[in-house]
Amino acid sequence: MSTAPASLPFHLLAKPTGAVCNLDCDYCFFLSKELLYPGSRFRMTDEVLERYLTQLFAAHAGQSEVTIAWQGGEPTLMGLEFFRGAAARARELAEPGQRILHTIQTNGTLIDAEWAAFFAAEDVLVGISIDGPREIHDAYRVTKGGRGSFDRVMAGLGHLREAGVEWNALTTLHAANAHRALETYRFLRDDCGARFVQFIPIIERVAEAGEDGEVPWSSWRDRPLYVQEGERVTSRSITGAQYGRFLIEVFEEWVRHDLGEVYVQMFDVALANWAGEPPGLCIHSETCGRALALEHTGDLYSCDHFVEPAFKLGNVADETLAAMVAAPEQVAFGEAKRATLPRQCRECDVRFACHGGCPKDRFLTTADGEPGLNVLCDGYLAFFHHVDEPMRAMTELLRAGRAPAELRERYAAQDARRGRNDPCPCGSARKWKSCHGS
Ligand code: SF4
Ligand code: SF4
Repeated sequence: MSTAPASLPFHLLAKPTGAVCNLDCDYCFFLSKELLYPGSRFRMTDEVLERYLTQLFAAHAGQSEVTIAWQGGEPTLMGLEFFRGAAARARELAEPGQRILHTIQTNGTLIDAEWAAFFAAEDVLVGISIDGPREIHDAYRVTKGGRGSFDRVMAGLGHLREAGVEWNALTTLHAANAHRALETYRFLRDDCGARFVQFIPIIERVAEAGEDGEVPWSSWRDRPLYVQEGERVTSRSITGAQYGRFLIEVFEEWVRHDLGEVYVQMFDVALANWAGEPPGLCIHSETCGRALALEHTGDLYSCDHFVEPAFKLGNVADETLAAMVAAPEQVAFGEAKRATLPRQCRECDVRFACHGGCPKDRFLTTADGEPGLNVLCDGYLAFFHHVDEPMRAMTELLRAGRAPAELRERYAAQDARRGRNDPCPCGSARKWKSCHGS
């Protein structure tokens, strides 16, 4: 087994409990992945952890930073000792001067003061899944008993904030919050104190429809292993038009009040693409294939969204991470993002910002009958066209060595001339005073 460093950088999400979670969120595509490992205890063993970390550091030999990213399922179910051990072992494996970045994605419900103290001590960046105020959050993010998880998440977040842990909000967008953009964003910013926000559109694909045209199940519990197949979506899924409107409404708030202070991933990614810089998010990059998922058994998959048999690259017991990342099938997986773009995308005026989105969401047919158009295309078009002018302005400011946040002053000057009953410039058809002017 070669231990040569990886020839290209990659990012890996490790799932120490596999798909196992203490919550039972209705829209979670990942819970059904338990079916991949019948009879498993769903706990990463010390042996797999050792192989994983050894290979991860070997693949990053000579590099200034190594990221160790934990995800699930719910990774905190492993218990704190597992992560203490992993952090200690990572310190032993790091080269002198090499920085270790720890991240963990959690539903936040098990975080107490002890967890928070550990995260603070190890500088762990914690991603908390929270969908909005109680009513929105509890619509789908429920316990095994079907009760809302809002209070427990907010308690966990409280511990993180008290301990000064760096955290970001991961907010999924779906039928319960798609129409409530301002309320959702203001809650994250003002009530939670979020300074880093990622919005993730929920697109739940369905292969078949029942006799009445309805999808045959309402929850992951009723269905077999979730795979990226089907041209229908559940009613929980956000539509392209809703996604575009949501982003536009948040952008109009952010650009006036929070530019330079709150990081919204989609806006930063867009600015990077307007400025001709690497966007840092696979979905809006030309190619992908550098963000992989490691199951608790040591099995490596092409991507977190493709943890399914056809996309398994191998196991760390048999092959190195570096070799599997560079394998021809994984290179082809990443290249396919560009190679399979339909003509409508290839000729699109915002292709440079969109790049067709994620292949998992490309199951529409274009106007001229070609397959492979993204189900969020309407939203991408609306959002990228809406932000074209401010993105150009921010790019100019950046090139002049000035802060993009100066744009807030231009918006403030325009808003000062706006009447309270004028239409809101976000395009919501509401009056300024009851929309972004509120
Ligand atoms: S398939 Fe989608 S989520 Fe996975 S690496 Fe490619 S763009 Fe990213
Ligand atoms: S906006 Fe639509 S047509 Fe344009 S690149 Fe994106 S998915 Fe393709």
